[in-house]
Amino acid sequence: MRVLGIETSCDECSAAVVEDGRTILSNIIATQIELHKPYEGVVPELASRLHTQWIGTVVQTALQKAGLEPHDIDAVAVTNRPGLLGSLLVGLSFAKGFSASLDIPFITIDHIRAHLYASQIEHPLEYPYLGLLVSGGHTVICRVDGYDAIEVLGTTIDDAIGEAFDKVAKHYGFGYPGGIAIDRLAKKGNPLAFLFPGPTLHSKDHPYDISYSGLKTAAINQLDAFWDGSSEKSPENIAASFQRAAVNMLIKRVRAALEETGLKRLSAGGGVAANSYLRLELEALKKGGYEVSFPSLKLCTDNGAMIAALAYRYLADGIQGDYSESASARVTAFKKQYS
Ligand code: ATP
Ligand code: MG
Ligand code: FE
Repeated sequence: MRVLGIETSCDECSAAVVEDGRTILSNIIATQIELHKPYEGVVPELASRLHTQWIGTVVQTALQKAGLEPHDIDAVAVTNRPGLLGSLLVGLSFAKGFSASLDIPFITIDHIRAHLYASQIEHPLEYPYLGLLVSGGHTVICRVDGYDAIEVLGTTIDDAIGEAFDKVAKHYGFGYPGGIAIDRLAKKGNPLAFLFPGPTLHSKDHPYDISYSGLKTAAINQLDAFWDGSSEKSPENIAASFQRAAVNMLIKRVRAALEETGLKRLSAGGGVAANSYLRLELEALKKGGYEVSFPSLKLCTDNGAMIAALAYRYLADGIQGDYSESASARVTAFKKQYS
């Protein structure tokens, strides 16, 4: 079954063709990064306008790259939640039109579930496993019992990890998007130049919760308090120290969750899963006997392939969407909503 996956939830206009949920025939990602760069953040109105202009070409290119005609596609899948409403509606409307004109099944997909599922395309794990979602808008540690059964164990109580990377980078003018800029600078920096403290959050009820707002504020406003003066206050050192602190507090909770749940497998996903230091730390978990899976770089950030691959699972189970479905800014990914 060949599924066309469309993703326009934020600033990536993407379309992919995936066969039987595993074989990526094409995965076109047209990023708007350069066009939002002057504003140092995604401008929603600009994003949706650009999607409107690009979506036709992006889908056409995905079909061409796969060597297919529209009638070779068996189903069309599209992100309809969560994300920027105007941007989501562009992909959703296009997908409905594509499906109707070819009389093929149509299905809507939750972006967050798709990020969590992306690693399964290249390195599938047996269920259950611990899921780690680290992206621009989300930081979630969860138990995954099936593609559709995700239970939140812990989440950020304030900023998402990607948001913290982006805000620190923006403050210091490291470049846009911030996560990639910090990762690049950190490679040449001393991660021990600034010893940022871990979060002081210790909730008995929610032991895997995390907070990034304290670390972000420390890195932005209280830098000197964590500096012993022995190394330079350089962008490289700030980046490396911030990155180390941000990743270490996450890994600490991941290790605790693995131990306490007894789960032997871990899958990570989302834009921050592209971070080179986090990837090293995830690799290191293998030494503890855990099976670890995370997506290749292109499948970490927003892409149509993860949408098509997850859609295949639903479609194979006989689940389809219908044209009355609309877009939503809200997350619906989790079995048990966090409270
Ligand atoms: P969400 O998926 O939560 O709705 P989003 O779609 O904007 O949000 P993603 O596309 O998954 O998020 O990821 C973008 C985020 O990943 C940004 O915050 C970006 O800075 C971060 N990011 C990308 N590459 C890296 C990297 N190498 N190191 C750290 N962060 C990174
Ligand atoms: Mg993006
Ligand atoms: Fe995303």
